[in-house]
Amino acid sequence: FDDIAHPVCVGLDLDGSGASIPKASGIPDTLFETDGQITKRPIRALTLSALAPQQGEHLWDIGGGTGSIGIEWLMSHPSVTATTIEPRADRAERIRRNADAFGQDRLEVVHGLAPDALVGLTPPDVVFIGGGFSENLMRWLHETLAAGTRLVANAVTLESEAALALWHGKLGGDLLRIELAQSAPLGPRRGWKSAYPVVQWSVML
Ligand code: SAH
Repeated sequence: FDDIAHPVCVGLDLDGSGASIPKASGIPDTLFETDGQITKRPIRALTLSALAPQQGEHLWDIGGGTGSIGIEWLMSHPSVTATTIEPRADRAERIRRNADAFGQDRLEVVHGLAPDALVGLTPPDVVFIGGGFSENLMRWLHETLAAGTRLVANAVTLESEAALALWHGKLGGDLLRIELAQSAPLGPRRGWKSAYPVVQWSVML
């Protein structure tokens, strides 16, 4: 990681020299090998904050994508564990490579589709749904997991947002709509380029 270009990830070593990976959540996207299916840095930081990892807790990261959520969860404390579930073989392999590159070889990668692939896994303390939120998946989680399990779900599409809003109506919890824009070239000047809004639901089952 010595070719770090993004200024937010440049920290000073104790002797005042060199770059390092930040302690806070929200590692730059560029440090992951990705096909673009990644929870972007600011949203990831908010997501880790909502997941709120605590000593010894186990995470299910449903819709692993690039693996960034499971990896940052593991980096939060040596005692926590995580299983990531991803149906695409190429992505499952990429998650493995990313986890190993960050030294998080204890990330368990399950190649499969939720909820079917969740059967028989070590029960979680916390669940993150980063892809594939559906009525079917949510009903399975609600019927199967222990009361007190924390759940955070991010929705980008209208379809998953609609399903999520229904479940928020049933179970309560916090709904947060995250709308971010970044400056980008606009002809010879600059403008704000908006990202798709993300709706984040945090609830205790
Ligand atoms: N949070 C990830 C990005 C998620 S992208 C990261 O930061 O790296 C969403 C992923 O969900 C995609 O890779 C997609 O293949 C996966 N997905 C979609 N439906 C799913 C399902 N039912 N079970 C598990 N994964 C699913």
